[in-house]
Amino acid sequence: MRTLYTDDFRTTPWWWEAARPAPGAAEPLPAETEVAIIGGGYTGLSAALTMGRMGTSALVLDAEAIGFGASSRNGGMVSGGLKIAGQGLSRRLGEEHADRLVREAAGSLAFIEELIAREAIDCAYARTGRFVGAWTRRHLVGMENRAAWLADITGGAVRILPPGRVHEELGSDRYYGGMVVEAAGALHPARYVRGLAEAAARAGACLRGGVRVMRIAREGDAFRIFTPRGNVRARAVLSATNGYSLGGPNEWLARRLIPVGSYIIATEELPPETMKRLFPNGRMVSDSRRVLNYFRPCPEGRRVLWGGRASFAPTSPEAAAPVLHRMMTDVFPELQDTRITHSWTGNVAFTFDFLPHIGVEDGVHYAAGCQGSGVAMQTWLGHQVALKILGRANRKSAFDGLEFPTMRFYSGNPWFLPVVGEWYRLRDRFDRMAA
Ligand SMILES: Cc1cc2nc3c(=O)[nH]c(=O)nc-3n(C[C@H](O)[C@H](O)[C@H](O)COP(=O)(O)OP(=O)(O)OC[C@H]3O[C@@H](n4cnc5c(N)ncnc54)[C@H](O)[C@@H]3O)c2cc1C
Repeated sequence: MRTLYTDDFRTTPWWWEAARPAPGAAEPLPAETEVAIIGGGYTGLSAALTMGRMGTSALVLDAEAIGFGASSRNGGMVSGGLKIAGQGLSRRLGEEHADRLVREAAGSLAFIEELIAREAIDCAYARTGRFVGAWTRRHLVGMENRAAWLADITGGAVRILPPGRVHEELGSDRYYGGMVVEAAGALHPARYVRGLAEAAARAGACLRGGVRVMRIAREGDAFRIFTPRGNVRARAVLSATNGYSLGGPNEWLARRLIPVGSYIIATEELPPETMKRLFPNGRMVSDSRRVLNYFRPCPEGRRVLWGGRASFAPTSPEAAAPVLHRMMTDVFPELQDTRITHSWTGNVAFTFDFLPHIGVEDGVHYAAGCQGSGVAMQTWLGHQVALKILGRANRKSAFDGLEFPTMRFYSGNPWFLPVVGEWYRLRDRFDRMAA
């Protein structure tokens, strides 16, 4: 029997074959810094880059290698907060604030595109557009109703495809039509985070991997950061730990974030004609389920990268691989015999109000909670929080200072996820049966 895995199967991100996060230099930590940033992903590095460009050198500390977290593990699908655009925000925030918020989120796409071009980051960025498959007929109607508004918000065309035309975008019969959103792109996430780190270092940031921050303490109007490699005095601190905040020095933040494992597999290389049939226009793809799938061709267009919530309880990449393979062949039956070369996982950070947040608590700044859609948004929020720390923001971000809810007795360990996640999965199944 043909096995599901290639002989050289790995449980590290396929992206790391081209850009593995490098272990940090063993140099000693400085005794003092203007700003200490905890977490060396898009948020922390983007903040450090902005600060550097404005003449403030920050110290970025990551417990693992710089870029080790979600920032080198994600799907590399770039959009301006399309997820935010779906929720009844006006009811919660009022019309004006809701409008500012979705427009700011949408603007994060132009921001990251400009940043990549300005810093000449070699990360295979392309404006591919995205196809969102409708899981039910009702979802397609919802897309039709939102298309004009979404086009206005994103500043790019949005087209609805009826069921009979899905093959123009996707080699699958699994969806009831869908929507093409032109304002979306794709990149190589590990090359992007590496390029961002290089740009931040060029701008004067000091980057140190392998330094876990254990504790933050007030020291007059400054802070002291405690690590196993010594401690550092900082005038300001930014927590940029996002989906990896549990067990970290910022318990207040961890209590407001729900770390959720997301899983991806990479297939072996496929013939060009198969790839062309599956992804005729090379778009990024996701679907409208509550527990969604997201998938894409790799930047060279030779293999499929397939992501989803293989499990809501923590599980290994080995155990997730067959589950994702089943999800993939449900959409692309012709990949039944296609083997997997890589399977990996990473944490995304959800929030109880499904919104990203920036703010400050007890003097410590934070920017987090992109609900699994943070390539552009966390880069943007890192920039915004940097401006805020430096006192250089022309106007307050729409994500700044929103009430940041938690749940009674929640300490950052989402014990409820398996139950809630399976309930969502079940509802997806019912919706489909009803359709
Ligand atoms: C599998 C997967 C697929 C995804 N796909 C997409 C996608 O296609 N498109 C999209 O837009 N978004 C996607 N995302 C989300 C996106 O990757 C994240 O929103 C983004 O990378 C978050 O960046 P960050 O810098 O805030 O956090 P991270 O990159 O997670 O960085 C946080 C860092 O904090 C460090 N840290 C934690 N505690 C400490 C401590 N005590 N001391 C020092 N360092 C510490 C960690 O080691 C980690 O490196 C995906 C995420 C995952 C996991």
